[in-house]
Amino acid sequence: MSKIKKQLTDGTPCIEHNCILCCKNTEMPLTISDVERILKKGYKFQDFAVRINRETKLRNVDNVCFFLRGNRCKIYSIRPEGCKLYPLIYEEDSGECILDEICPYRDEFKILEKDVIELKKVIKKLEDEQK
Ligand code: SF4
Repeated sequence: MSKIKKQLTDGTPCIEHNCILCCKNTEMPLTISDVERILKKGYKFQDFAVRINRETKLRNVDNVCFFLRGNRCKIYSIRPEGCKLYPLIYEEDSGECILDEICPYRDEFKILEKDVIELKKVIKKLEDEQK
């Protein structure tokens, strides 16, 4: 019998499989609102973020996301928008939103139309902010 697929924002497949693969060597971009939300919690920009060219990304420490503690995200409830929507990613070449083949459990996630709309909004926001 096939498994019931879980909503992206649920995170159940990650917990069930004890998976942290996408938190390793992350290149997740941060929107200005992501940064502001995290700063409000008292974290310092230079601790959790890096600027690369015009992009702001999550910072890795010892090859994992700064916010990973054990197998848990320390800021799960306020995590970056891109993390909430992962493993849904935007493929530039095709202009499609797809499940990242790097995620070993991608088939367990259900993609809703609202997720695709949300991801496209995040991509647009990031593009506008990097101009
Ligand atoms: S790689 Fe997939 S299953 Fe693993 S933590 Fe990331 S989203 Fe969850």
